[in-house]
Order: sequence, then structure tokens, then C-alpha cells
Amino acid sequence: MAHSTADIVKESLDALLDDTSFLPELTGQSRQKAFTSLVSILSTPNHVSKSFLRVTMEDEQVIRIPAFRVQHNNILGPYKGGIRFHESVEEGEVINLASLMTLKNALHEVPFGGGKGGIVINPREFSVRELNLICKKYVQYFSEILGPDKDIPAPDVGSGDREMDWMMGEYKSIRPGLPYRGSFTGKSVLNGGSLGRREATGKGVYFTFRYMLHNFVNEQEKWLAERDNIFAKTALEHKDKTLTMAVQGFGNVGSVAALEAFQCNYLNNKIVAVSDRHVTLYNSDGLDIPALVKYTSNRGGDLPVDDHQLQEADVKAEIRDRDDVLTLDVDVLCLAALGGQIHKDNVTDVKAKIIIEGANAPITTEADQYLSEKGIIIAPDILTNAGGVIVSYFEWLQGRETQFFSEEEVYKRLFDKMKKTFDTILPQFFGDPFPLRQNCYIHAVMKISTILYRQGKLY
Ligand code: GLU
Repeated sequence: MAHSTADIVKESLDALLDDTSFLPELTGQSRQKAFTSLVSILSTPNHVSKSFLRVTMEDEQVIRIPAFRVQHNNILGPYKGGIRFHESVEEGEVINLASLMTLKNALHEVPFGGGKGGIVINPREFSVRELNLICKKYVQYFSEILGPDKDIPAPDVGSGDREMDWMMGEYKSIRPGLPYRGSFTGKSVLNGGSLGRREATGKGVYFTFRYMLHNFVNEQEKWLAERDNIFAKTALEHKDKTLTMAVQGFGNVGSVAALEAFQCNYLNNKIVAVSDRHVTLYNSDGLDIPALVKYTSNRGGDLPVDDHQLQEADVKAEIRDRDDVLTLDVDVLCLAALGGQIHKDNVTDVKAKIIIEGANAPITTEADQYLSEKGIIIAPDILTNAGGVIVSYFEWLQGRETQFFSEEEVYKRLFDKMKKTFDTILPQFFGDPFPLRQNCYIHAVMKISTILYRQGKLY
């Protein structure tokens, strides 16, 4: 089972029940009742919409494709979250991902709620014309519930700016007169998208790593040394060390995070492995990431799979099995592919000391517990991969004001926002018995609960 957000929300609220500084207005029985309501509000979505998109294929055959839009919670603002195009999409997973968006936005103070969509297809099996039709149908079927102040989709696994451009175009035709630019984010720059949006998640992932592991640890060394807990110790052990890194996934998130790590070359960190859906490439001296990025962008996204292709890419690497990336002896493992990648059957083979979640829910609940007990630092999805939705927010703002930020300004605002979150979370985390994931959840749940209370939705 992938990571169950509902369970962690419940645990976070349990941890807050005895904290009298949290919602001090609530006492005794009314406090107990309010907490029960909070659990049910936050662990269930407000709406689940599903449909079968009827699409005529190139060969005139008509097929029906299952599609979803889940609206989890909108107490902090319009529902917000990507649309996943993948053959494994199913309702429970979309619900879980939508609730992660609610928590992610709350954690980083993005004024949006949480939503998520899904279309059950392997986009590689469809022609461009068919994909265009699928996107238009999605908007036609769900246009009633979408909108710039209601629910704003964005790209996710399997979708990108091309799909968002098509969807926004369809939305504009169906709902003329509305401020359509804010109806979808992650669009191309020419079509009202933001500079830096495509790179935002990967850049944010690398920023998390650098800030957590070096900047923060260096600045807080003395303070950390006084903390007698396993997390503080692990962090200090890695201070000033050249770290080896493996990156699972070489798509929009993994390739950008790897390139950032390569270019920043902070404390000589080395990327010794990257992987995609076919292979792991390994080089103990470090991989030439720019050459791999160049190769994949000319070759439809896939990494070289044999010696001939490695030569073409001009990259020196050993070709290994796809899943080897997960169990290499490295300091840092960045998970930037799909959900549920580390699970009970492979978790005992994981050797990394620090895991950065670039994807959503890449570690199952059981595996997460095992790793946390071992003292592995896991930088959780809602903390780490929020760059995408943060820049989506900037895009939405820019679309409203029809004024656009420079790329430099986008990244500055992005890193400032993420830094602000880290500065709130990290001091608590390093002094606390809770793992970082639960710390982030507690923080997000606290924020949402307080707003629910202030808006009179809890009594
Ligand atoms: N799909 C991305 C995520 O999971 C981005 C969502 C958005 O920009 O709304 O965070």
C-alpha cells in the first residue's frame, strides 16, 4: 500500500490533542469532539468525480477511458493539484495524492487547497491527435467543477505544458468570459505560463537537499550537537562530507534535480547513479549529467540502454538493472519516479542514509517506519517537491495581473518560500522525537485546523 495520508493525519491530530497551546479555546469534551470532526474532515475528500471519457481513436474505434478529479479540501483556497496520466491510476491513489496536496499547500503557505486528477492511460500509446482529444474531453467532462477560483489543475506524472495548453484552450472555449489564464497552471510560457515552472520541482528538490544537509547543519552545528537524537546525529555525521547521490527517475523532476546537483557541485557532491523506466546508469567517479540531459532531450526522454547508445551520448557508465538504483551504497537517494517504490520487500536492502522524496508517496508506510526507526533521514514529499505547486501559484498570480516575473525572480521567490518553511520546521524537527514527515504533517494539520476553527467550521 502506498503511503496513507489519512493515517498520518490521524496520528498528527493524536499528537496535538494533548498540546494545550494548540486551539486553546477548545477544552474537555468539546475538544475531543472537535478532534474527531477534524480527523474525518482531513482524512476524507470533499468530492470525488469520475467519468469515462469517450474518445474516437485514429482507427475510428471508440474507447472509454476512466478519469478522475478529486477535491480534497479547500479551506485555504481553491482546490489545486496536477492531473496524472498513467495506466496505474486508480481512485484510492488519486484521493491520497489530493490529500497530500492539501497538506503540501498548507505547509508552505500557498493559498490553495488540495486536489488531484487522473486519466488511466499510458500516454506513450496514443497519437498526438488522440492525446489532444483526451485532454479536451477531460475538460468537457469536468468543466463544471474546474475554474480559476474553484479548482486549478496542473501537470503531474505523464503530463506537461502541452497538455495544459490544450486544456486551457478548451476551457476558454467552453466557458467564455472567465479569467481563463488562471484555470490551469504549468502552461507553456507563450501561453501564459511562468518562466521556471518546468524546472521548479527539480530545483526545489535540490534546494531542500542543500539547505537541510549543509546550510542548516553548518549554521546550527552547536545547537544540534546538544540534541541527543538519532536525526541530529545523522545530520552531523554528514556535515562537510562529499556525498554520493543516486537519483531514481530522469523525467522532469529527477533530471532537473540531478543537473542542479551537478552544476552547483556543492561540496563536491557526486551523482553516481541515475535511472529511468529501463535502466540504472552507474559510475563511481560521477556521471556526466549535462551529457545525459542532452541525450534524453533529443531521444524522447529515455536514458541510453546499451554501449552503443552510451557512446552516442558520450557518457561513461555501467548499465545495471532498473531497480539497482534503490539499493546502491550511496549517501543520498533521491526518489523522483513514481509512488510506492520502496516497500517491505526491498526496504532492508536500502543503504542510503538520507532519502529525498522528489515524487509523491514513493515510500510505503511500512517501509517508512522501518527506515525512520533505523535513523535514516527522509525529507518527505510535501516538504521537498512543493516547488511545482509554489511556482504554479506564481503563475496563477501572474496570469491574474498579466505581469510576468523574470526567471531569476521566480527562483528567488521560490527559494525564499521554501527556506521560510524549512526555518520553521527544521529547528523543531531536530529537537523532536518525531520523524520529519510527521513534523511536517503536524505543522500542516495545525494550520488547516486553526483556519477551520476560526471560520466556524468546528464546534
Ligand atoms: N503535480 C505537482 C505536485 O504534485 C504540481 C501541482 C500543481 O502545480 O498544482 O505537486
